[in-house]
Amino acid sequence: MSTAIEIQGLTVRYRALKALDQVSLSAERGACLGLVGESGSGKSTVLRVLTGLVGDWQGKVAVAGRRLAGSRRDLAFCRDVQMVFQDPYGSLHPRHTIDAILDEPISIHRLGDPGRLIPQALADVGLPAEVRFRYPHQLSGGQRQRVAIARALLPEPSILLLDEPTSALDVSVQAEILNLLTGIQRRRGLTAILVSHNLAVVAHMCPRVLVMDRGRIVEELSRDALDAGVAGSPQARALIAASRHVRQASKAAE
Ligand code: ADP
Ligand code: MG
Repeated sequence: MSTAIEIQGLTVRYRALKALDQVSLSAERGACLGLVGESGSGKSTVLRVLTGLVGDWQGKVAVAGRRLAGSRRDLAFCRDVQMVFQDPYGSLHPRHTIDAILDEPISIHRLGDPGRLIPQALADVGLPAEVRFRYPHQLSGGQRQRVAIARALLPEPSILLLDEPTSALDVSVQAEILNLLTGIQRRRGLTAILVSHNLAVVAHMCPRVLVMDRGRIVEELSRDALDAGVAGSPQARALIAASRHVRQASKAAE
């Protein structure tokens, strides 16, 4: 297997604060890598460096074999690396219809006929066709997040960055969205990084999970360790203890 994402010695400072301190990780093509840790541990900063939302960083970052520098990303990169954010309320323009929201990547990347692509994109994430001409506030939280996922999938990326994609949702809906994402990632063979403060969420989708604490990676948990609920670091043990109830809910929704 080849490496899709390779990060070595990544350090990010926000003024006096070291948000990332010598972070190294890699994700194989087609694999799902989980990043878990308490709020403020630096998870989102890793994704922000990849997408160019943070420009000032030190280290080596390569995506699909190409070294990144600063915050410059070309259009082909932006098409190939898509992100889904935590808050579907904030990430969808409130005064745009779903049609307009989904038309945006289609026109930016010249993907083709919106009349064909938009109904297909809605169907791909399990949304009924009539959602197309509604506004975000007319949808449920789970439906809104499905729209955000549809928007991310339209450019047919090979890499999907998921930043707490279920954290703003009710527990039952979290499991549905997680199952949707897991199916899409596997069927399409996408490389994914799934970020969550909740270990149950990442364990559901990712066979490899990295535990972050205060800007560092403190432990890697394998599938076996996750299933057995064993971990060496106190941070990972605390996350395992906190995760049990969500795990049960997502099993029930399958
Ligand atoms: P996580 O996603 O794990 O919650 P973040 O990557 O968002 O963590 O943040 C890591 C640390 O950097 C936190 O202490 C956070 O307060 C700080 N931070 C994040 N963004 C900024 C910013 N734009 N300016 C200053 N500090 C920031
Ligand atoms: Mg975050």
